[in-house]
Amino acid sequence: IVSKLPAVGTTIFSQMSQLAAEQQAINLSQGFPDFAADSQLLAALARHSSAGLNQYAPMPGVPLLLQQIAALTARCYGRTLDESREITVTSGATEALFVAIQMLVQPGDEVLLFDPAYDSYSPAIQLAGGVPVHLRLEAPDYRVDWQQVATRLTPRTKLIIVNSPHNPTGMVFSHADWLALQHLVTQHGLYCLSDEVYEHMVYDAAPRLSANCFAELAARSVIVSSFGKTFHVTGWKLGYAVAPAALMTEFRKIHQYVTFSSFTPAQYAIAEMLREQPQQVTELAGFYQHKRDQFRQALSGSRFSLLPCQGTYFQLLDYSAIAPELDDLSFCRYLTIEHKVAAIPLSVFYQHGSSARIIRLCFAKQDTTLAQAAEVLCRL
Ligand code: PMP
Ligand code: GLN
Repeated sequence: IVSKLPAVGTTIFSQMSQLAAEQQAINLSQGFPDFAADSQLLAALARHSSAGLNQYAPMPGVPLLLQQIAALTARCYGRTLDESREITVTSGATEALFVAIQMLVQPGDEVLLFDPAYDSYSPAIQLAGGVPVHLRLEAPDYRVDWQQVATRLTPRTKLIIVNSPHNPTGMVFSHADWLALQHLVTQHGLYCLSDEVYEHMVYDAAPRLSANCFAELAARSVIVSSFGKTFHVTGWKLGYAVAPAALMTEFRKIHQYVTFSSFTPAQYAIAEMLREQPQQVTELAGFYQHKRDQFRQALSGSRFSLLPCQGTYFQLLDYSAIAPELDDLSFCRYLTIEHKVAAIPLSVFYQHGSSARIIRLCFAKQDTTLAQAAEVLCRL
């Protein structure tokens, strides 16, 4: 077989979670909560399934959920969506990203993305025959230099992929960033794929902004989110895409042949939560900000230095005062095997790697888990 992705191996998330399990380590590597989801949500799933809602959902998603996504988008960002034509429910944000890229990228098209980048973008671009063009963001703030971005445009540039709040750095776009992105996209006739899976995890009372807030940008964007993140159920693999009707028509042509539709009882359960417990979405930032603050406080006496975290449930740590001789993958393996705390090396999020001594830890964990991990990390 001739590999279509010769440079790709098993994802670092699978590798580190497996190593963590083998080593019985505290797993702060792969991003997922170690606590239960809301009991009302779990009960709703069981109830809808018992009631017989177990067959194929409509291809674009269950209408009750589409309505709730439209209502959520209006509440959070003031954007009015046509729920029957501008929203599609997908099997996780991963499917939405993949479908959007297959839809937008023709062979030879260039796609701008920022390193460190979430790992699913580049393979999806390559499978579409496109050319990923990676722009590096630099520690400690990982902010985008929009003037530099403009210099990397060519006549073949078709799409720009952005991710705010940003995995793995926790960087969050400012109002000025969104305006600069909108300007770039509209001036150069690009499309934008906005990965907003951590949209409800923005800290320190910063405004919650989205491509949804900027009409001219939204007109050329596919916006992706994930209920796995928002409702602590990453294993349900339920997300959605929002786009203008003309784009969404093309999106659905592909979605219908990738998965056709997504897990039916979960769609009803999430719709019920959005209707009856809408405050859970708005309370998420406070919930995770508390964890971020506790974790950072607990690590303040350690020899790690903490990078800023404005959003997401990830914290970057610089370990150069502890083991400057180890590259970050070796350090993560050492940490997991010798100290029983698993983390993700930052270099895997770069096309050409990184020599920085930085690791990513996930703080979507019980307070006791975070305290135990911090105690270990403070001893290093
Ligand atoms: N984008 C980013 C930036 C992510 O961190 C994740 C979750 N790992 C995804 C997309 C995929 O989300 P889902 O689990 O809903 O497929
Ligand atoms: N998004 C998760 C993370 O960044 C992992 C998702 C996955 O395992 N593919 O840790």
